[in-house]
Amino acid sequence: MSDPLQGPAQTGIAVEESSLDPGLADEVAAQPGGEGIRRCFACGTCTAGCPVRRFNERFNPRRIIRMVLLGMREQVLGEPFVWLCASCFTCQERCPQGVRISDLMRALKNLALRRGNMPEGIPMQARLLAEKGTLYPLDEFDNKKRVKAGLPALPEEKAVVGPLLKELEEVMGGKGGSHSD
Ligand code: SF4
Ligand code: SF4
Repeated sequence: MSDPLQGPAQTGIAVEESSLDPGLADEVAAQPGGEGIRRCFACGTCTAGCPVRRFNERFNPRRIIRMVLLGMREQVLGEPFVWLCASCFTCQERCPQGVRISDLMRALKNLALRRGNMPEGIPMQARLLAEKGTLYPLDEFDNKKRVKAGLPALPEEKAVVGPLLKELEEVMGGKGGSHSD
């Protein structure tokens, strides 16, 4: 996988018409949040307000949407830049066409994840969630600090969430914890 800070503007992509996948836009439009993608008229408002773009001009939501509409499956779902979106919703609030861009970016992350394109931390987070029911497990040390600050101690594992996730995994035939299928 290439440098996660590399975006589509930096990869020198020449669009090969024969490599385009016309089914990609439909696939994204079928995801929750992706429904409005075809309403985009490429005004660039999303890109202009994006805080990630401010620090990394190679991240460009308008361009990513255009790439999806063109069917550039590999260049979008196979690249690390899809994970750079911070889900801040600035673009979603401002889009004149009502495209739910933050949700759409999450949909792209989900599609990328299904093909194994994910940051290293994601499997670890999934494991923590399944085993502990939280991404930030507490330990005795944390609870001592809470008590010292006058706060009640919290359970070190979320007994409610853990079993629910396990049950979900069983219902899904062992696929609940898998992120490569
Ligand atoms: S703000 Fe909306 S219409 Fe404009 S480029 Fe972004 S997604 Fe497209
Ligand atoms: S939600 Fe993502 S794409 Fe939209 S402005 Fe925030 S960081 Fe940029």
